[in-house]
Amino acid sequence: SAKQAGRGQYRFFDPSLNKVDIEEFSLEQAFGQALKERQFVLHYQPQIRLDSMRVEGYEALVRWQHPEFGLLYPDRFIPLAERSGFIVALGWEVLRLACEELARWNALGVQAWLAVNVSPLQLRHADFSYRLLQELQRYGIRENSLELEITETAVLDYEGQAIDNLTRLRAAGLSISLDDFGQGYAGFSHLQALPLNRLKIDRTMIAQLSNSHDDSPIVTSTIILAKRLGLEVVAEGVETREQLVCLRLAGCDLAQGYHFSRPLTSAQLREYAPFSNAAELPCEP
Ligand code: C2E
Ligand code: MG
Ligand code: MG
Ligand code: MG
Repeated sequence: SAKQAGRGQYRFFDPSLNKVDIEEFSLEQAFGQALKERQFVLHYQPQIRLDSMRVEGYEALVRWQHPEFGLLYPDRFIPLAERSGFIVALGWEVLRLACEELARWNALGVQAWLAVNVSPLQLRHADFSYRLLQELQRYGIRENSLELEITETAVLDYEGQAIDNLTRLRAAGLSISLDDFGQGYAGFSHLQALPLNRLKIDRTMIAQLSNSHDDSPIVTSTIILAKRLGLEVVAEGVETREQLVCLRLAGCDLAQGYHFSRPLTSAQLREYAPFSNAAELPCEP
């Protein structure tokens, strides 16, 4: 758009331009072409149910296979995509890739859900839920095999529209989880106001579990409270056996993290034949 071009030009001629600005400028310019050339790919991190130790789902994490800069992780381009508005188009590309992968799993008889991260800016569009349901139909994907991960800012920023979209999608059978809980200012009050199925405890909270042999009272009470509210609890960033032991004792339902597996490529995931036993994950440390 003219506004974006204007902003780009200003930056381009800005004498204080530093290396980071130049990189940002060229990344922003490359977004459109990256979409056209399908440079975005998803990696998949297993989510394990702790009582059975079976993989029940995967989180889709986007990466950008950039022709010049190599494989870029989301922290390098998602914030920029959000500032420039490109996140809406990128979000649809991610959902399309997720549908393609789910269709492949269906063909292989793999039973697992796929969780996709959704930005607040996507949820502010009134037609988001309708269009997503159409996409699922187009790919022949059951609604209950897709989960959306949202952050609290999604709802704080665009309350009405975001909640309408989420309510409609949940009624259609999708799962909704609240990501990064405990990282920001999320009050417990949100948990009751939102149409949620799961709560994901942020890895900064999980990291505290490794520092002592006591269980962390904050993690433990978060799990108890979430379960009282009828939510399942997912721990993210589980890196050690000690953390896993604490989480099982505290009654946490699901976990993901490097202790089980790093995010896998689609090819790696398909080599992992049974798709269900955590002990057989290809990247187990
Ligand atoms: P997130 O949704 O909280 O995803 C978890 C992040 O933690 C991922 O980083 C994952 O690779 C990393 N992680 C998983 N296990 C461990 C562990 O044991 N230790 C540590 N230190 N890290 C672990 P990643 O892939 O770099 O993604 C970063 C963030 O980018 C995500 O945080 C999410 O907020 C965002 N993101 C990723 N994909 C998408 C997307 O398709 N759309 C949007 N809007 N955001 C995305
Ligand atoms: Mg997430
Ligand atoms: Mg998270
Ligand atoms: Mg995060």
